[in-house]
Amino acid sequence: MNPTQSADRLPLPKVLVLGTGGTIAGVSTAHPAQGGYRAGVLDIAQLVEAAPGIELLAELHAEQVASIDSKDMRPEVWSKLATRIAQWFARPDAVGCVVTHGSDTLEETAYFLQCVLVPGKPVVLTAAMRPATALSADGPRNLYDAVQVAASPDAAGRGVLCALHGRVHGACDVTKAHPMALDAFTSGERGPLGFVGPQGLQFTRNHPGEKPQTLSVPSAGNWPRVELVSSHAGADGGVVRALLQASRSGALQPGLGGLVVIGTGHGTVHEDLQAALDVAESAGVRVVYASRAGMPQGGAYDGLNAVKIRVRLMLELAAQAKG
Ligand code: ASP
Repeated sequence: MNPTQSADRLPLPKVLVLGTGGTIAGVSTAHPAQGGYRAGVLDIAQLVEAAPGIELLAELHAEQVASIDSKDMRPEVWSKLATRIAQWFARPDAVGCVVTHGSDTLEETAYFLQCVLVPGKPVVLTAAMRPATALSADGPRNLYDAVQVAASPDAAGRGVLCALHGRVHGACDVTKAHPMALDAFTSGERGPLGFVGPQGLQFTRNHPGEKPQTLSVPSAGNWPRVELVSSHAGADGGVVRALLQASRSGALQPGLGGLVVIGTGHGTVHEDLQAALDVAESAGVRVVYASRAGMPQGGAYDGLNAVKIRVRLMLELAAQAKG
């Protein structure tokens, strides 16, 4: 018999916990300014061990997928995560999945998983703002909360979720908005989907809107290049022309497939940059406009910030290339 079960207790929900690194698995031997901090040092089994009582919430299956600072996140790790989560959910007895992640690119990975996973059983990302060795480290609480969410039937069918500092955010809305504060994440004007903590889990609003079509994960070597460019005073389009030229000459591999433009206001763009973008578009590059003033409204990318639009555009371009 499983050690977490007894004859008079119901079996615990089975939750897969995947570690990818980040500050939640980080250590700090000195003040961060002195360079003593390293992300992704501890393994996922150590993180689980550091969260007292977590074993009473679920039967946990802990696995390491990567041990990186999430600023270095790459498509190979995304592919591994998506594959492992899909395999896990193919088991009829699998209830949920938690991913521990660095806070810096958590929103990109959450949105990637939202795009490629078939909706259903809960996938919950979490992170920490303080290393595991810090005084009052926030990682153990966040991991505990994430497991609470992943093990809850109420979390199913709400898309990919993020449990951070007592709040439950949706993958489309969540963004990191502070480099240090414990409540570094926000869902902007829309607010979180709910709250989680010692009192349990409570959803206060539904998952926003329709989930767009589920897209396939591109195979290795088939991730299209989508770059971010921004509009600002003096934006003259030189970067776009250089990208286009390098792409045409074959110096840039893979060549330029798309551009996400961080525009001003409603996604407006400096006239000189616009001229270069028009040339790129007529050369077959997909150009999508976001705004530095907040989430653009309307259209296929409604409510997404620029880095998430980039994720979606890469997946769409890969799907188109496959035909
Ligand atoms: N640089 C770290 C990371 O994203 C920051 C963190 O996890 O809070 O991996």
